Amino acid sequence: APAETPQVVIDAHGLPYLDGKLPVKKRVADLLSRMSLAEKVGQMTQAERGAVGNGGDVAAYGLGSLLSGGGSTPTPNTAAAWARMIDGFQLRAQATRFQIPLIYGVDAVHGHNNLAGATIMPHNIGIGATRDPAIAEDTGAVTAAEVRATGVPWDFAPCLCVTRDERWGRSYESFGEDPALVKSMETMIQGLQGRADGRDLKDDDKVLATAKHFVGDGGTAYGSSTTGSYTIDQGVTKVTRQQLEDIHLAPYRTAVDRGIGTVMPSYSSLDIAGDGLGPVKMHARGDMINGVLKGRMGFDGFVISDWNAIDQLPGDYPAHVGTAVNAGVDMMMVPYSYQDFTKILTDQVNAGRVTVGRIDDAVSRILAQKFRLGLFEHPYADTSGASKIGSAGHRAVARQAAAESQVLLKNDSAVLPLKKSQKVYVAGSNADDLGNQTGGWTITWQGQSGTHTTGTTILQGMKNAGGNVTYSKDASAPTGGYDVGVVVVGETPYAEGVGDVGNGNDLALTPADQAAVDKVCAAMKCAVLIVSGRPQLIGDRLGEIDSLVASWLPGTEGDGVADVLYGKKAFTGQLPVTWPKSEAQLPINVGDTAYDPQYPYGWGLTTLTKAPKGGEATLRALGIAAKAAERTGSAAAGRKLVDKARLLVQDRIGQSVTAAVSKPFADADHLLLTGKYAAAVEKLREAYAAA
Ligand code: BGC
Repeated sequence: APAETPQVVIDAHGLPYLDGKLPVKKRVADLLSRMSLAEKVGQMTQAERGAVGNGGDVAAYGLGSLLSGGGSTPTPNTAAAWARMIDGFQLRAQATRFQIPLIYGVDAVHGHNNLAGATIMPHNIGIGATRDPAIAEDTGAVTAAEVRATGVPWDFAPCLCVTRDERWGRSYESFGEDPALVKSMETMIQGLQGRADGRDLKDDDKVLATAKHFVGDGGTAYGSSTTGSYTIDQGVTKVTRQQLEDIHLAPYRTAVDRGIGTVMPSYSSLDIAGDGLGPVKMHARGDMINGVLKGRMGFDGFVISDWNAIDQLPGDYPAHVGTAVNAGVDMMMVPYSYQDFTKILTDQVNAGRVTVGRIDDAVSRILAQKFRLGLFEHPYADTSGASKIGSAGHRAVARQAAAESQVLLKNDSAVLPLKKSQKVYVAGSNADDLGNQTGGWTITWQGQSGTHTTGTTILQGMKNAGGNVTYSKDASAPTGGYDVGVVVVGETPYAEGVGDVGNGNDLALTPADQAAVDKVCAAMKCAVLIVSGRPQLIGDRLGEIDSLVASWLPGTEGDGVADVLYGKKAFTGQLPVTWPKSEAQLPINVGDTAYDPQYPYGWGLTTLTKAPKGGEATLRALGIAAKAAERTGSAAAGRKLVDKARLLVQDRIGQSVTAAVSKPFADADHLLLTGKYAAAVEKLREAYAAA
């Protein structure tokens, strides 16, 4: 509880809505019936904490919510300071006549990533590579526990984007290009919000989650804005109605079934073939928000706008406000313009442009989630879990996720796993850089290179594993006398604003990275690790590289990467997106008719088990067993059988990844995820025959 005593204007205690034994619906109705229009409009308003000073406006405007935009952290950036800051604001909310608690939100998209010392998970693209719904749930649970322990009950995550063109700079926030994969990783929602583990939103280790960005954010043409009028990663998604359903909407159906509390519309525009509307910004698409999400899917949580997103709608500001609210946006993220917003929304209601019914619906939805979270009973931070932030237990989860996310694309001469007896020459821009391996949304919004929080780099992890390593970032140290080289290259951090080609956004390695790879791989057997949010183009260089690993953005636990490098754990990750040969191939996705990538979707060698012996006959037997597994509804058995078949086929394919093998191979992984085990084995048999 805060140090000051709340300045209670009117003692709200005793009113029915404060009775925790009443059903949420009754509590909402009671409270709503007492509220003025100004109070209702206040509930629909979310401001940036940096805009409200010491929080006087929380009470003055009756603000329903505050957020910390990326990197908007208290000083010092400690768990205690976060809790103190939020309690200070909550104190203001508690001084309003109905004492409606604030709901504070942050982007904890891979751990409590704004907080120094928090456990940072792999970004979603790496989680997708694990193919492991249990670890996705566990990372969600750790994130929720660390976030709630600082007094924050709401997380703007997970991103359910289905990335279809990796020129899109936010591809790293996607679980992958296959909606079936994205759906299977939505166990993260339970990790965040609870239920499966017997916990729920009222508990001190759970948070309200946000599915974002509704809908089609991952499908923008060229991954960018084609109009150029807005930020580069906020373009137009041009789809048929069927593609919209099957690819982009499908993950939201799952999220609604899982009880997702909030949904955030996308900055992008949607252009549906044949609807005659052309590209329309998602915040204005009532057909999608009211019609599909709230109507057809029955979503009963609330819709929060994206940051200043209504400013991008056509017309003047009053029109924006009315359009978005009428389209079904319930709470507006108007970080610095909350004063204008509250005035304009009030005017819009008085002018009849927005009905009181719409306002009541929005406020009811918001209040219901506040009741679900138990905020009326416990408005202040419960920091009892704070000692677990960045704890060994939490880091162990992140470490496991990092290990499982590593995808072994190539392993000639079995360079990996490394042996402790080997002398290892480590080089490259991302071998020893915590900032680069954590990526965007880490301590600052866009992320930054260097040591900005607590964790181990990949190099440190290799040393911790007992490796005999020498490090030369630019590979300038003499290369003689080494058994094997490990070159860690890739991207530098970004969160948003990266998009089209022609804007310095090609997927090539930097010249410095290329030089390090060339030098080390010419001198000795080498493994190249690519630390990046999306595939990077290797091109002709592939021939000189013995082992190639897609490391994604593994987070603070470099030890997890070292676990697979040194064979403490096996490589088990699989590509969540197709790895292209060239920029010209983009977009390239599983299911495409023309499909000739460098590595197909689902590719991933393993150092765990030997591939099963045999050929056609073994695959036939696996197919029969898979059919039986399907009949008896044994998903675990089905998955195991397909995995076996996959290993066998990968073994046969080796590095001769042709179009003829790629297509059925990728299709098999999609079928596996949709529970069609026998058909998956059949596809693998096709790939085998074509190899
Ligand atoms: C991003 C959202 C994020 C919001 C709040 C926006 O720029 O698109 O994903 O939740 O900022 O920080």
